[in-house]
Amino acid sequence: MKTISRRNLMASAGQAAIAALGLPLLSEGSGQAAPSRKLKVIVAGAHPDDPESSAGGTMARYADLGHDVVALYLTRGEAGIPGKSHAEAARIRTAEAEKACAILKARPVFAGQIDGASEVTNETYRQFGKIIAAEKPDLVFAPWPIDSHRDHRATSLLVYDAWLRMKQGFELYYTEVMSGMQTQTFGPTRLVDITATESRKRASCYAHASQNPDEFYSVHELMNKFRGAELGVKYGEAFVRHAQDARESLPMIS
Ligand SMILES: [Zn+2]
Repeated sequence: MKTISRRNLMASAGQAAIAALGLPLLSEGSGQAAPSRKLKVIVAGAHPDDPESSAGGTMARYADLGHDVVALYLTRGEAGIPGKSHAEAARIRTAEAEKACAILKARPVFAGQIDGASEVTNETYRQFGKIIAAEKPDLVFAPWPIDSHRDHRATSLLVYDAWLRMKQGFELYYTEVMSGMQTQTFGPTRLVDITATESRKRASCYAHASQNPDEFYSVHELMNKFRGAELGVKYGEAFVRHAQDARESLPMIS
């Protein structure tokens, strides 16, 4: 089969618009120099390993540019190690999350809910919203809301509510995990080249030794390759930007 050039591939797949719209300040370069404006970037996930597997390459890229990157975990993965008590699993998985964050140069924050029993109530909206507001983020990555895991759905709603309560005071992006199995109906509007940071993303996922990383990372490796192919690079990550601008008109009728 005739090889398609990157330019033709992007044009034919309608990806040019996606590729051209980068995430804020990620296109400034890959050096260690101080950024022109320091961003606070939060990647929210329900469990230790969710921020890393969904956006670890992008987290490392922001951190390398000198931005402040937070992994916000709704729970400590209390229900995630068969045969261990909640307390023991939380201790093990907190340590794994801390190790993963050190690899990505991110800071872990734990929101205090319980794995497998996450709650979306007026009180948890308030608690979670307070944590986000205190960080004063410029951009927040949340799990995509259509997901087979209840905790992922809960985290998505909690972030979305914080965004509304903060009057859309930060840019909101959605992430994918274990696409097809967990995240469903996800159509990215932003692609990020993580070729340079994929090895650290991989290491941060493998820091979650209690979670059978060979198994879950093999799925994410395929996703990284697929999203990379959409962008014309080796490895990529994909996001949906929550764009809401009432002034945007529909084509040709205004
Ligand atoms: Zn999860």
